[in-house]
Amino acid sequence: MRISAIRAYRVELPLREGRYNWSNDNSVSVFDSTVVEVVTDTGLAGYGECCPLGPAYLPAYAEGVRAGLREIGGKLIGLDPLRLDLLDRRMDEALRGHPYVKAPVDIACFDLLGKAAGLPAHVLLGGGETDDIALYRAISQESPAEMARKAAGYRDEGYGKFQLKVGGDPDVDIARIEACRAALDRGEVLVADANTGWTMHEAARVVAAVRDLDIYIEQPCRGYEECLAVRRRTALPLILDEAIDGIGTLLRALGDGAMDAINLKISKVGGLTRARLIRDLCVRRGVAMTIENTWGGDIATAAIAHLAGSTPKEFLFSATDFNSYVSRRIAEGAPRRESGRMRASDRPGLGVEPLREALGQPVLEIG
Ligand code: MG
Repeated sequence: MRISAIRAYRVELPLREGRYNWSNDNSVSVFDSTVVEVVTDTGLAGYGECCPLGPAYLPAYAEGVRAGLREIGGKLIGLDPLRLDLLDRRMDEALRGHPYVKAPVDIACFDLLGKAAGLPAHVLLGGGETDDIALYRAISQESPAEMARKAAGYRDEGYGKFQLKVGGDPDVDIARIEACRAALDRGEVLVADANTGWTMHEAARVVAAVRDLDIYIEQPCRGYEECLAVRRRTALPLILDEAIDGIGTLLRALGDGAMDAINLKISKVGGLTRARLIRDLCVRRGVAMTIENTWGGDIATAAIAHLAGSTPKEFLFSATDFNSYVSRRIAEGAPRRESGRMRASDRPGLGVEPLREALGQPVLEIG
């Protein structure tokens, strides 16, 4: 099998709730997502998706996905898409860094591998132990009362895990955490995700103020060293997200005992091939994972479900169904949330079929 063409489609994904806010006054109303179609000489095609959380979250931006694909696309024509490790190396030879550009290509080739083998991606990713994935709901940064109201509403939709967007004024953040914890029952999981928004002294104040609450703290400060300093002064369980961007940072953090769990975003690390390696290292070192992506629609959600659904249950802290946050469907066959949970498809590959009218005409075609 050889790659004969690579196409990219730009899709807009409006948020059902209108707007999503997080630290440092960032917000998004309509996501700009890129769907990649890898076409082969056999007639089989595979699909991937990359949707950065705006341009100020990670070193990634929506137009950058397309610019990067323009750069590497021509070098991938003629390659065997089923040799994923070789493809990964070829993409690195064509463009250093920029893992988020390569992620949708890798995901599309994983989709092709599954279609060629007649197996769902979750089997190819190592297992299928967790066929029922407990989801978390992200809660946009609002007033403490509004966030507590939303937490209770999402609980009524079946969610049992909640991630508060904090990382703002520490006094307001303390009130946000207290209000939301009070609105939830014991056994319901609450994560306060600062998304790098606190300085060290602000983080120190927050973790001291909420030390007796049953909560997790996620990525308190921008840099790894600052997060490690916060880790060393709190007994609260800590999750690292933005600071873990690949194997190098993961190995260092594992050596330092810097976290209890990580947030593994498929596009942040460059696709399913690399995410699987990170996932497997975490499993062997006892680190649980929230498995998700920077955002996306049906195809991104399907990829999350396959990686999460092949992860040993005790290490799957949570996952996300981004396709339920947005109002536009872009593929048939994607997981649909039921009582706060989702399942990976048992159809070959990712198990999704893009909706042509939703994709429109390609904005990029190579080959
Ligand atoms: Mg996070």
